[in-house]
This record gives sequence, C-alpha cells and structure tokens, in this order.
Amino acid sequence: MAEVVVWVDHAGGVVAKPSLELLTVARRLGDPVAVVAGEGAAGAAGVLGEHGAVRVLVSEAPEYGEFLVVPKVDALAAAVGAVGVPVAVLVSSGGEGREIAARLAVRTGSGIVTDAVDVEVGADGGPVAVQSVFAASFTTRSRVTRGVPVIVVKPNAAPVEAAPAAGAVENLDVVFSPAAVCARVVECAGREASGRPELTEAAVVVSGGRGVGGAENFAVVEALADALGAAVGASRAAVDAGWYPHSHQVGQTGKSVSPQLYIASGISGAIQHRAGMQTSKTIVAINKDPEAPIFDLVDYGVIGDLHTVLPQLTDDINHRKN
Ligand SMILES: Cc1cc2nc3c(=O)[nH]c(=O)nc-3n(C[C@H](O)[C@H](O)[C@H](O)COP(=O)(O)OP(=O)(O)OC[C@H]3O[C@@H](n4cnc5c(N)ncnc54)[C@H](O)[C@@H]3O)c2cc1C
Repeated sequence: MAEVVVWVDHAGGVVAKPSLELLTVARRLGDPVAVVAGEGAAGAAGVLGEHGAVRVLVSEAPEYGEFLVVPKVDALAAAVGAVGVPVAVLVSSGGEGREIAARLAVRTGSGIVTDAVDVEVGADGGPVAVQSVFAASFTTRSRVTRGVPVIVVKPNAAPVEAAPAAGAVENLDVVFSPAAVCARVVECAGREASGRPELTEAAVVVSGGRGVGGAENFAVVEALADALGAAVGASRAAVDAGWYPHSHQVGQTGKSVSPQLYIASGISGAIQHRAGMQTSKTIVAINKDPEAPIFDLVDYGVIGDLHTVLPQLTDDINHRKN
C-alpha cells in the first residue's frame, strides 16, 4: 500500500494529540509513516504504533533542540526521500507546523494546502484537502497538482482512533543543511501549567468577551471550562482590557481554534473574532442582546445574562458528572 508521511509533534516523546489525529487522516490515504525528531523521539514509537503508524522514523540529534525549525525540515525532507514517493505529507497546523510544511514544499517543488479542516480521498485515491475560507463563508476542496502533496491539517479535524500497526522503528539518517544552524535557540522556558488543555488543540473552548465585564468575572468562564475540561479563550476586547492574557486571544490577530464545541459568552461576533473560531464544529453563544451578530452563526443561542447562565450551566454539568 502507498505510504503517507506524518510529521509528529512531541515533547520528550509525549505525542501531541493533533499528531495522533493526523494518523487517523493518514490511514484513509495509505500506510502512515510517522517521523519523529528530537530528544526522547524514540519514546513516542509505542503510541504511534498503537495509532496506526506502520513505520516510525526516528532521529534524536541535538540540533532539533538547539536550533529553530530548519533541522526539522531537514529531517522531514530526509523522511520523504527515505519513503520514495509518498501519497502525501501531513503536518499539524500551528506556527511551527506551517513553517516546516512551507519550507518542505519549497524544497521539494511541491504544492501545499494549509489549514485543512478535513482530508478526503479523491477519485484516484489521492488526497483532497477541505478548507473553510473567507471566515468560513465558503468550503473549498483542493488537490495538489505538483509534487508530493504537503497538507497542513487543523487540530480536531479527525478523531484520535486506536489502530494497532507494526510501528517498526527505524533510524532516520539526517544530514543537516548549512541553513539549519543559522538561528540558535538561546532559551526555552516551559509554559506555566494551568491544568487546562492547550487552546489551539482543545476539543472544547469556552471564551469570554467584553460582556464578561472584568478580569475577576472571568472566574465564571473558567468554572464552566473546568466543568467541561475545556480551554479558555477571550475576545480581543477582553484581552485589550487586560482581563485575560493575550495568549488566549481567539481571532484574526489571535489564535485560530477549531474545537468540537465553542462557547462564546459575552462576545458580539465581530468578523475578526469569527475568523478564528468559525470552523468550530458546534457553536454556542450566550449574549443578552438578541440582535448580536454572533447569533447568525451559532448552532445554539442563549439570550441571557452570562452571569446567570454560565453558573447555572456549570452547576448542572457538575451535578450530572457527579
Ligand atoms: C485589525 C483587527 C484585528 C482584530 N483581531 C481580533 C481578534 O483576533 N479577535 C477578536 O476577538 N477581535 C479582534 N478584533 C476586534 C473586533 O473587531 C471586536 O472589536 C472584538 O472582537 C469585540 O470583542 P467583544 O465581542 O468581546 O466585545 P463587544 O463587541 O463589545 O461585544 C460584547 C458583547 O457582550 C454582550 N454582553 C454584554 N454584557 C453581557 C452579559 N452580562 N451577558 C451576556 N452578554 C453580554 C453584548 O451584548 C455584546 O454583544 C480586531 C479588530 C481589528 C481592527
């Protein structure tokens, strides 16, 4: 069967959830070949095999941690060379993923599709990338017509599914290019753990906007997020007011999220906010203004004061969980 190269994001061998989702997508197209580079990479092999990787190409050179993304591009290019002519190369969307994929596409003279919300199998068995564009006003289906298709897939595009496979571990020989050592990482500090999932990867996101009314009031948003095991997002108005950290901003100039469930509370639904969340599978809004534009795109809308609605919802969820 044809092989599909999957770039794996991991931290010390702990595989990021979107990379496991990529293995689900890859299995539709062929046999997944996982590429995992960096410190602890070999430790990822077990879980990759359990999720369908037929082969796991491993490179643990120190360069991946010492320099920015180019060594990883070298590794992915080496993997594509080792496979021969893969059906596709799949990379998770995110700042680093998009850069790795774009650099690979330039090097290999291939077409690239970014931020796919799904990947389908075309009539010839090749990949057709589904994108949601113009603030999700249109859905497009695109095929790459030159080279090995490089497709960058958004988190939550597919479920994580166990699918035991050989997971045969192979050492990947990588020769680093001169460009690989041009930008050295001088410091790397771990993010303070909040106990909540990473915003861009979370299956559920609860966001607050100006309607929350103050930094201290974000506690009601956080309480609902914790009841649902969700990440917390915020509109730019809330972030600019200093009520929540900038790293949580969702939107055109913030983070792009695509969860299974997005709950917008006290957010009007400005186009710049929609641009970052409109591909969410199910959208719920709580807003006291029935004319708020957010209601134009929701699956479920609650007209009401979020300070009444959110605590009731949180209590009910916690009650049902117990
Ligand atoms: C170049 C550019 C880039 C931008 N990028 C982003 C971006 O990335 N992300 C982003 O979010 N915005 C972005 N914006 C800003 C955007 O245009 C809006 O100003 C912003 O999204 C508004 O945030 P909001 O919905 O929280 O506030 P508002 O528009 O003020 O809406 C607040 C809503 O809360 C409701 N409300 C008030 N009190 C309550 C209550 N007690 N209970 C329930 N509902 C209540 C109101 O009815 C209202 O609908 C950008 C703007 C520009 C120009």
